Amino acid sequence: MTEAGPELPFYRDTLGCVHCGLCLPACPTYQELGDETESPRGRILLSRALAEGRIADGARIASHFDRCLGCLACESACPSGVRYRHVLEGTRAELNQRAPERGVRARLRKLLLSQVVARPRRLRWAFAALGLAERTGLRRLAQRLGLIPQLTERLLPAVPPRQQRLPLVGAFPPPGVTRGRVALFTGCVMEQAFGEINRKTLALLQANGFHVDVVTDQGCCGALHLHDGQLELARRLAQRNVDAFRGADVIVTNSAGCGAALRDYGHLLGSAVAADFAGRCRDVCEFLAEQGLSATPAPFPHRVAYDDPCHLCHGQGVRTPPRALLRTVPGIQLVDHPSAETCCGSAGIYNLLQPELASAIGADKAGQLRATGAEVVITGNPGCIMQIRAHLSGTGMRVLHPVEVLLPESG
Ligand code: SF4
Ligand code: SF4
Repeated sequence: MTEAGPELPFYRDTLGCVHCGLCLPACPTYQELGDETESPRGRILLSRALAEGRIADGARIASHFDRCLGCLACESACPSGVRYRHVLEGTRAELNQRAPERGVRARLRKLLLSQVVARPRRLRWAFAALGLAERTGLRRLAQRLGLIPQLTERLLPAVPPRQQRLPLVGAFPPPGVTRGRVALFTGCVMEQAFGEINRKTLALLQANGFHVDVVTDQGCCGALHLHDGQLELARRLAQRNVDAFRGADVIVTNSAGCGAALRDYGHLLGSAVAADFAGRCRDVCEFLAEQGLSATPAPFPHRVAYDDPCHLCHGQGVRTPPRALLRTVPGIQLVDHPSAETCCGSAGIYNLLQPELASAIGADKAGQLRATGAEVVITGNPGCIMQIRAHLSGTGMRVLHPVEVLLPESG
């Protein structure tokens, strides 16, 4: 056990729940499975019972927390302000201590997260190996032989060219007058699978007059480790970032999942320095909307639906800025999307761990997006981009990150 009984840090958060049930309609797993133990209210009650020592065998309740997407729609719906994210993270960490998963797949996942994702150089090697498998046809062969499940294969990103995977490090001044100076958080998988988006984010900030620093010692934000119950490792990764960005006034992120994790470092590390770091983090759209664009985006004459990443709208409360920026793009037709804040089923590595449920939720999302009649879907999180792309494949609809349509003509 991490700590004793009701002294567990998440216990206090469970007490805020008054069992009103107003979060139930917002919860995708409750909507799909119709079971109270798959709802926020049910999970909070289980967490509380665990903390009070009324559940001796943690393994009995672990599956309910495994099936939670961590989408935080329940937080937005909760009138009592329950910080469900802390209940979930704390409970997962506690279960990881009391009843660690023992299967080969679980061990492999933990090893991959701790020994590859958390270590930038090894992650680069892993993507280099994946790229080689792709170029030599090994990846296709493995898929044909059924060694990689079809759904997993559809979700795995194509490996970008090597020059887009090289570490992006240095100081990048704007072409003209400097309006300010920011530091860019480049992430782990984001840098390897979506290096092009990092480079476009850098170009967008420069084009809008910002000097951009990309510091060397930054690394994975730790969100995936936290979701996996690896609390101590998540804390070490967080501390590394707090130290790496010590001199930065503003830390800009372009991945909603990372941004939500970075902004919660104050809680995770429990230090004033970490809380100060968290207060300096901004999503790229939030930052640019605050500052105002000085470079007009290139024309984008398309019908577009903006889909909110859960960790941006529910996790960081950022809803208006991406839409406000997109409305400035010449020729764009931004259409309403009534289910924009509903989870797409990506949720970190959830779509790999709970493929059936993630697939059902992803299919619902794809149906809602198709109904908008949009040609392009825009969303600011790598996991959401992969999941929505996989579920819209064959429809001709494109899925882009906001920075890709905010660049000026020369960007
Ligand atoms: S985080 Fe999402 S899936 Fe989990 S309980 Fe809350 S609404 Fe449901
Ligand atoms: S809305 Fe908030 S207080 Fe009501 S049941 Fe859900 S978590 Fe508890």
